[in-house]
Amino acid sequence: MDERVQKVLDYIEAHKDEYVALLQRFCRQPSLANTGEGIAEMSEMVRAELEKLGANPQVFETGGSPFVYGEIKGETDRTFGFYDHYDVQPVDPLNEWHTDPFAAEIIDGVIYARGVADNKDGLVTRLCAVDAWQKVHGTLPLNVKFLFEGEEEIGSPHLLPFAEAHPDLIQCDGYVWEGGNREPGGPAELTMGVKGLLYVELYSTVSEKDAHSMYAAITPSATWRLVQALNTLKDRDGKILIDGFYDGIKPVSQAEKDALKTDVFNESAVKEILGIEKFIGDAHGEDLLMSLYYKPTCNICGITAGYQGEGSKTVLPGKASCKIDFRLVPGQDPNRILELLRAHLDKHGFEDIKIECHSGCLAHRSDPEAPFCKAVIRSMKKLFNEQPCVQCTSGGTSPMYAFCAKTNIPAIMFGSSSESANIHAPNEHLAVNAFIDMIRINVTVMHEFAVQE
Ligand SMILES: [Zn+2]
Repeated sequence: MDERVQKVLDYIEAHKDEYVALLQRFCRQPSLANTGEGIAEMSEMVRAELEKLGANPQVFETGGSPFVYGEIKGETDRTFGFYDHYDVQPVDPLNEWHTDPFAAEIIDGVIYARGVADNKDGLVTRLCAVDAWQKVHGTLPLNVKFLFEGEEEIGSPHLLPFAEAHPDLIQCDGYVWEGGNREPGGPAELTMGVKGLLYVELYSTVSEKDAHSMYAAITPSATWRLVQALNTLKDRDGKILIDGFYDGIKPVSQAEKDALKTDVFNESAVKEILGIEKFIGDAHGEDLLMSLYYKPTCNICGITAGYQGEGSKTVLPGKASCKIDFRLVPGQDPNRILELLRAHLDKHGFEDIKIECHSGCLAHRSDPEAPFCKAVIRSMKKLFNEQPCVQCTSGGTSPMYAFCAKTNIPAIMFGSSSESANIHAPNEHLAVNAFIDMIRINVTVMHEFAVQE
């Protein structure tokens, strides 16, 4: 390990109680974007910590939770962007918590708190890594920008407007992005992209009211209309049948395919978590991962129609509706997919099916060959003496596109959370050691990128 880095790692070891206390302090402040509870106090706490680091913080009002920005000049002209969020999910059901969700109690080396693994841990580890480096060396190896929002848990409604209004502030060589797991005992995991999303609701309406089902012989059925329309969207092999749906999809590069070999995806464990016997087509290995990461989806989230209560009721529903999410990949624009869906339904004679669009966002995949990505991969190898698991994209969605789609700046997630950390659920928790490790990772990646040729 480089001597300059080692000194910082030693400093972290000697001051870890201080850093854990800071995380606890952050977790004790509620910050719920959905109700606004504690958002003002939390954003002020974030601003004050950035002030202590000399990051000249600026607080931007957004119409929702404020955006907190700060920057520090370092020894080189390379720049890291740290994107995290200070808001958390609601705590209910409260009675399923074993501790007060805002007490941040430590039990057997594990901190229990809402937000401790999503994403106050990430945010605080950036602050601690920068603090430790400054305390030891008086400066930083590179420039850093802190880009902290407070609405991630409600879909980041003001992130894209912020990025468009402040293109200079979001400019950097690479983002360290919120989120990411590291399973206990497993290798460090890096995720370099996310899928996009289009969320729609389809409505079939024949009548404003339900009818006696004897009229099914002579009356059109809203439910059958909807089912028949849905049946045109996808074939039995899973191919999505909307004309143009797959057009323009960015091909998977050799480097992205190669990265699959480092993946630690545990097929049997995931099947158990999902409660299924087999994956689609009984796929496994590289085929399975190619689907998980690089295939777009058309998923029915829910269908609503008619009588669903106990026993029987002979009824002909006047209305039926369903919610669909499409997970999209780079090259697919949610607005375009929405147009194609409309054209598809019209072409198949379903002009009467109404579409309501709930949300959409673009996918983003960073180039694993980008110098920033290579530096992060290399620093993980050095710190842990093993090859990290590199995922070129998550199967899920995060608002990376707001900062990365137009700029094409690479972004990487590496977190200390795990599949069992209960994020968004009762008893969210994080091991103290995983938190300290994350501070160490942030230190080594800053150094590695700063000194890279
Ligand atoms: Zn979350």
